[in-house]
Amino acid sequence: MGPGVRRDDRFVSLTMTNLNTLRASLDAIHARIAKAARDSGRKADAAELVAVTKSQPPEAIREALAAGQCRFGENRVGEAKLKWNLLKPEFPDATLHLIGPLQTNKVPDAVALFDVIETVDRDRLARALASEMDRSGRRPDCLVQVNTGEEPQKGGVLPGDAEGLVRLCRDLGLPLRGLMCIPPVGEPPAPHFALLAEMARRHGLGWLSMGMSGDFETAIALGATHVRIGTAIFGRRA
Ligand SMILES: *Cc1c(COP(=O)(O)O)cnc(C)c1O
Repeated sequence: MGPGVRRDDRFVSLTMTNLNTLRASLDAIHARIAKAARDSGRKADAAELVAVTKSQPPEAIREALAAGQCRFGENRVGEAKLKWNLLKPEFPDATLHLIGPLQTNKVPDAVALFDVIETVDRDRLARALASEMDRSGRRPDCLVQVNTGEEPQKGGVLPGDAEGLVRLCRDLGLPLRGLMCIPPVGEPPAPHFALLAEMARRHGLGWLSMGMSGDFETAIALGATHVRIGTAIFGRRA
């Protein structure tokens, strides 16, 4: 064999190693999700994994897709559009969640690309989404993001204003499924998850997107239906 062929072999085996590593970490996360659900008296499949691929290159996402993962989260519309315009035609069954802030001028792109928009947090955005859905005929599922820690720099509607926003989403006919939160860094997350679960119950909403790499088991114990996990699958982001 010539040197060129050797190089190819090495490339193939390297890719296989990455794929096996990724498969192993996905399997481990799935096992932890199922155990957390069972330990809290829920069905093993009560919480779905949203693999967070923000800042990950398309090759890493392609490996996760090859490993059987089909639900993904991205936090920036522009970045997601660049990566997923390549991947969507290849993997039409992939389900994409927007988990970052949404500006109203990006609403047409977001409605065209995402299957779930988790960050509905103000009246103006709800109205823009409703009119774009009417215009385009695409109707991604929506979650209201609640700023449970009332942090000024963070997106999300304040807990006291959530009821009004939920009512507006329903009046506008948005496909509203549930609530989402990101607890403050450095605080125990459990009270935030419990508050979000209580609010969802009160409003008759079934989906609860809460829990990340460091706290998803706690979130599942408190009722999460979707956990958003990046680092624990892909390693630290660049
Ligand atoms: C980045 C991000 C995550 C994933 O965080 P990890 O700690 O890497 O698991 C989850 N949710 C949101 C909204 C994020 O921006």
